[in-house]
Amino acid sequence: MDFSFSQEEERFRERVRDFLQSNLPAGWGRPGFKLPEGTSNLQLHRDWQRRLYQAGFVGMAWPKEYGGQGASQIEQAILNEELARVRAPAMLNLTGVTLVGPTLIAHGTEEQKNRFLAKILSCEEIWCQLFSEPNAGSDLASLKTRAELDGDEFVVNGQKIWSTGAQHSDWGILLARTDPAAPKHRGISYLLLDMKSPGITAKPLRQMSGGADFCEVFFDNVRIPRGNLVGTMNDGWRATTTTLSNERGTTGFAMMVRFHRAFDELVELARNTQRHGRPAIEDPAIRDLIAHFYIEIEKLKYTAYRAFSRILKGGSPGPEGSIMKLHWSEFHQRMQELALELQGPGSQLIRESPYAIHDGLWQFTFLWSRSDTIYAGTSEIQRNIIAQRVLGLPKSV
Ligand SMILES: Cc1cc2nc3c(=O)[nH]c(=O)nc-3n(C[C@H](O)[C@H](O)[C@H](O)COP(=O)(O)OP(=O)(O)OC[C@H]3O[C@@H](n4cnc5c(N)ncnc54)[C@H](O)[C@@H]3O)c2cc1C
Repeated sequence: MDFSFSQEEERFRERVRDFLQSNLPAGWGRPGFKLPEGTSNLQLHRDWQRRLYQAGFVGMAWPKEYGGQGASQIEQAILNEELARVRAPAMLNLTGVTLVGPTLIAHGTEEQKNRFLAKILSCEEIWCQLFSEPNAGSDLASLKTRAELDGDEFVVNGQKIWSTGAQHSDWGILLARTDPAAPKHRGISYLLLDMKSPGITAKPLRQMSGGADFCEVFFDNVRIPRGNLVGTMNDGWRATTTTLSNERGTTGFAMMVRFHRAFDELVELARNTQRHGRPAIEDPAIRDLIAHFYIEIEKLKYTAYRAFSRILKGGSPGPEGSIMKLHWSEFHQRMQELALELQGPGSQLIRESPYAIHDGLWQFTFLWSRSDTIYAGTSEIQRNIIAQRVLGLPKSV
């Protein structure tokens, strides 16, 4: 493991910090933050990505010829770490930058790369991921949406679900079955879909946390030009594997910083909450739980360092990705549960209530954290990967 940063890397960190100090939307990340007058949430996030792009901070590790900086993975990690430290807004086109771009760079034609990559970075075109279906999530290869070739076009019929941001996306990466007779992994094609095409209906799904970030998407004879096929027909699983491995990716550093901040806030909450007539932080049972959370964050940090050292030494991402995903998602949920327990019965007040504690932020993050153990591979799926690839156990039936 290598724990040190070079002088050049430290200078890069300073540059990021300077940028964040002068560009972060005023009041962002603090309780009670209000959008500037006349600005929508979507606009704020689009503008934020554009600013990051203009400063050279989007798609940093992409090759220069496709609009990236050709930067090292370490610089990308430092950037992620600094963004997490100030709780910067998420990039609006996260799916485009983290999933679509790397997949097109690896499997797209030159024409596709020239057409799409620059607009992904600048946030001119927003992308969504149209993979999951009502009966195809963990077992994605069992998907049923059909694409039939008709002359120079595919005709698509079927349904997707949980498509993040589909309601405001310009393009989507779509998996569809093009050979129903082939074994399930071999009859799938990977297509680029213009979301303004006739025959698409995107219906937002209301979440328990209040928002509607995901959609059901229906396709009724939607036509896609053959030139929007990525890789070869029926061999879409190859590009899918690239997309999915980027989804688990090297987010360890950013997670670690995010959890350190959440941990500090938890300690603050325990200091300011009375339990049995004294601050909760003085209760030995609470102190014990908090100490364990600290140890868990440190464990996560060293696992992230190990994963990173391995990549820097020329290796590909290892099973650390699954170990980290399983660890951080479950630990994050436990931390949220303690926060609500500390708040007592008042913690059950919904965010919109005028009596909501601390602006209802813990309530919001508690509800959101329920999804941590589902997206990018559920906990059970991560355990299966660890069992098979790390421990060498036989495949479950
Ligand atoms: C916040 C969020 C964002 C998402 N965004 C998108 C998106 O943009 N695009 C997209 O296409 N999808 C998206 N998804 C969907 C996500 O990929 C799926 O929810 C996920 O793959 C799980 O699939 P599923 O919901 O169908 O559950 P299922 O696969 O039906 O699983 C149900 C339960 O069975 C368990 N299970 C399944 N198979 C096994 C097994 N082999 N062994 C043991 N246990 C098993 C699971 O762990 C789970 O507990 C998103 C999901 C979330 C929560």
